[in-house]
Amino acid sequence: MVDELPDWEDLREAGAAVKAASMAQLPGLLEQLEERVTARGGVVHWARDATEANRIVLGLVRAAGADEVVKVKSMATQEIGLNEALVAGGVTAVETDLAELIVQLGHDAPSHILVPAIHRNRAEIREIFLRQMPGVDPSLSDEPRELAMAARRYLRHKFLTARVAVSGANFAVAETGTLGVVESEGNGRMCLTLPETLITVMGIEKVVPTWRDLEVFLQLLPRSSTGERMNPYTSTWTGVTPGDGPQEFHLVLLDNGRTAALADPVGREALHCIRCSACLNVCPVYERTGGHAYGSVYPGPIGAVLSPLLTGMDGHDDPNASLPYASSLCGACYDACPVKIDIPSVLVHLRARAVEADRATRRLPSPEAVTMAAAAWVMADERRFTAAQAGGRVGRLLGRRQDRISALPPPLSGWTASRDLPRPPRETFRTWWARTQGDGARRSP
Ligand code: SF4
Repeated sequence: MVDELPDWEDLREAGAAVKAASMAQLPGLLEQLEERVTARGGVVHWARDATEANRIVLGLVRAAGADEVVKVKSMATQEIGLNEALVAGGVTAVETDLAELIVQLGHDAPSHILVPAIHRNRAEIREIFLRQMPGVDPSLSDEPRELAMAARRYLRHKFLTARVAVSGANFAVAETGTLGVVESEGNGRMCLTLPETLITVMGIEKVVPTWRDLEVFLQLLPRSSTGERMNPYTSTWTGVTPGDGPQEFHLVLLDNGRTAALADPVGREALHCIRCSACLNVCPVYERTGGHAYGSVYPGPIGAVLSPLLTGMDGHDDPNASLPYASSLCGACYDACPVKIDIPSVLVHLRARAVEADRATRRLPSPEAVTMAAAAWVMADERRFTAAQAGGRVGRLLGRRQDRISALPPPLSGWTASRDLPRPPRETFRTWWARTQGDGARRSP
């Protein structure tokens, strides 16, 4: 799909430039957005963090007299744990995206940004529906169409009875105060148009200056996310329109660590993300581990940078501090990203920050830091390096029996407990070079 467009690289450049320009004027854009949304009959709320955002949404739902809301798939509301907060406040949140519904009914967690139930097969989905979906036909098969129709029947009733809907937003246009949601099932369109009250929770980085800017992203996003030429359902709305659609509209502008991320001169690039998930699909680490292994709402390469940036890293025991290491730094994510986020550079930057954060929490240097310092000292001098290599040959004795070393004394036992070391070779590259190429060529490599 990407190859079909002769100007794909120009579009990527444009997407990156629009995002960088938007971030540079973010306060002004957000104020303009607030002013335009308010002028068109909407109400804007500012939320510093997840607690504040959840409190605002719960208050609005209660004020509308509802005890159930329908939801459009939204990463921002997952990030703040809105469903859990609503349940704790006595309000049921019904996910209406099919995959999100499967995850919700299965008491599961999403494993992919775009296809949250990708870890479930159709037999499992049938089981979940039979167990958890009220009124489902007991003879339901695992045919995809039958499963989709069952979800459709269940959700149709919810759409028609819900008084409040909660959505995220893919974009907001500051010049007109317009919000936009792109989706591919039509469930979003139902939520955005049928209930009386619409509450949208949007990360502050989603705002762009003008409609012209949307033109770029509406070309980049579908091709990079679902491999479609254009997005099936693109809904845009501005405030409220008397007699048409929700008559009450609330926009919750969510910071939740974004301002801190913006203050990081390298990391701020991660805020350009348009959540297409192309970086997940090409990542060799994500491919092997799946999304749950990241332990973060945002999995994959973008999650490995975004989660630590949004929530910070507090030393060695913070799970976020390990996320920037969940990468081989192969660069596939950078090549695939439609807005050219240099994820590998941000990962390396965050690894440095993780090391600094860890150092700040320790009174003594970590064993790893001591090992690295010793390695640096050895490698800084040719004679020391040669002597160390000669010492390494002792390992040949250890691995003599099986041609590998399977047990070393502490602290190196930590390594051999889970993997073997190859037996060191008879000759190092340097000695081979000196022997075969002569002394004059010793320094050439
Ligand atoms: S980082 Fe780039 S490729 Fe990954 S989800 Fe965001 S926009 Fe898509």
